[in-house]
Amino acid sequence: MEECIFCNILNKKIPAEFVYEDEKFFVINDIAPKAPIHLLIISKKHIFSVASLEEEEKELAGEILFLAKKMGDDMKLPGYKLVFNVGREGGQMVDHLHLHLLSGKLEELP
Ligand code: 5GP
Ligand code: ZN
Repeated sequence: MEECIFCNILNKKIPAEFVYEDEKFFVINDIAPKAPIHLLIISKKHIFSVASLEEEEKELAGEILFLAKKMGDDMKLPGYKLVFNVGREGGQMVDHLHLHLLSGKLEELP
């Protein structure tokens, strides 16, 4: 997906610091953070959104949650919010599956 921002970050065509990486996912800091900690947990596979997940991607869908838990544990976060924006009406701007992890001043989060 040449025009996809997250594919281009994965392919190093757009610079970003990888906070974490494994064979299925990578994690970066959001360029426009909405909380003191704002991570994007991104599948390496180009899947458009939660709405386009296929049956065969069930395992991957579970794994992205477990990776969020791992990031929370590793960073010793006392609490956090997890957000999937789905579709334009749901606030999704980048059509490549990603999970927002927001932490910090939780009372100020949207
Ligand atoms: P969405 O609205 O699709 O759920 O979230 C996309 C997120 O990607 C937004 O929070 C936006 O700030 C972030 N973003 C867009 N372009 C870039 C980029 O080039 N680098 C990084 N690190 N984040 C980006
Ligand atoms: Zn992509």
